[in-house]
Amino acid sequence: MKSKLTTILIALGMSALFSSVVNGSTIEITANDTMQFNSKAFEVKAGEEVTLVFKNLGNLPKAAMGHNVVILNPGTDVPKFGMGAVAAAASEYIPQDEATKAQVVAHTKLLGPGEEDTITFTLPEAGAYPFVCSFPGHFALMQGIITAK
Ligand code: ZN
Repeated sequence: MKSKLTTILIALGMSALFSSVVNGSTIEITANDTMQFNSKAFEVKAGEEVTLVFKNLGNLPKAAMGHNVVILNPGTDVPKFGMGAVAAAASEYIPQDEATKAQVVAHTKLLGPGEEDTITFTLPEAGAYPFVCSFPGHFALMQGIITAK
């Protein structure tokens, strides 16, 4: 009787664990020395935690070819953000003024060659969330959209 109850409790615990994994989504993005993300379109569920694994597969030094992923709110002026980020070298090209910071949903660290970073975030509402690499000059090529449904 006692062992049966234990088995049921373990089964319940495992199914709770399993469903939490199923409910979240994981997306993986890589970047390289030719200023490219491997994929530019992702779809996630609004209001659900997303795990982003970002890898820099390049060989060039971070000072010349660093990469990050910066996720912006729907409707953000991406070229304006990208050009403004150039001045934010001290904070790895993430602008620290309040108005610009309010446009940023989440961001990874700036990665050098062979490095990776994992972040989690939630896109609160359905919409098209642009993402860019904010290293100077990269946003024009390195941008995409995460669609939350
Ligand atoms: Zn980049």
